[in-house]
Amino acid sequence: MPSTVNKIEKFPVCEKFVSINGEGRRAGQLAVFIRFRGCDLRCSYCDTAWANDASAAAEMLTADEICKYVRSTGVKNVTLTGGEPLLRPGIGGLTAALKELGLSVEVETNGAVALDEFCVSGVRPDCFTMDYKLPSSGMEDKMIVGNFELLGSGDCVKFVSGSEEDLNRALDIIKTYGLIGRCGVYISPVFGAIEPKRIVEFMKEHCMNGVNLQIQLHKVIWEPDRRGV
Ligand code: SF4
Repeated sequence: MPSTVNKIEKFPVCEKFVSINGEGRRAGQLAVFIRFRGCDLRCSYCDTAWANDASAAAEMLTADEICKYVRSTGVKNVTLTGGEPLLRPGIGGLTAALKELGLSVEVETNGAVALDEFCVSGVRPDCFTMDYKLPSSGMEDKMIVGNFELLGSGDCVKFVSGSEEDLNRALDIIKTYGLIGRCGVYISPVFGAIEPKRIVEFMKEHCMNGVNLQIQLHKVIWEPDRRGV
């Protein structure tokens, strides 16, 4: 364990399981998921709202216990998710400890947490999958656009789109911040709110080279609201 890891601090873990990664740069690959309780946003379409309440059931685990669980699975990709994992005190120490074990760490973050303090050597995850919340989420005013500058080729930005207004806004953000070539760029439909083929049409209309349509694999493979997958 790196010396920076707090050995006493406990993290509220709502779920831990092995599955395939349903989205982002590692879609389709095995990963160990650690889902932390709590989120500072309230997106209109949130599919993990049950994990956001302060009262949600959670195991309290130390960094050491989380590392032991991850190692026991034999899976090399780890995805820290939520909720919003970066709100948890000590999370940088946990990413450092997981990396020191030779694991490849992904953090799924909601775009409303400044990433600078998590970009220091030894702590930075191998991959940030960062959301940019579009108008239909109701949370766009919380986005920290300065985070874009901290992303690189191993990271990605995910635009979850539920309307024409969302698609137009995603296009605007991608162009304004020069995201193509900087990091991966994904557009995903809000499940049940917009047809994926409409997103394809939009991409064709605007010749969106370098952008990926992504359907959340876990919602196709299992029932859309199933947990632990
Ligand atoms: S950021 Fe994610 S976990 Fe938080 S409310 Fe929005 S969709 Fe739900």
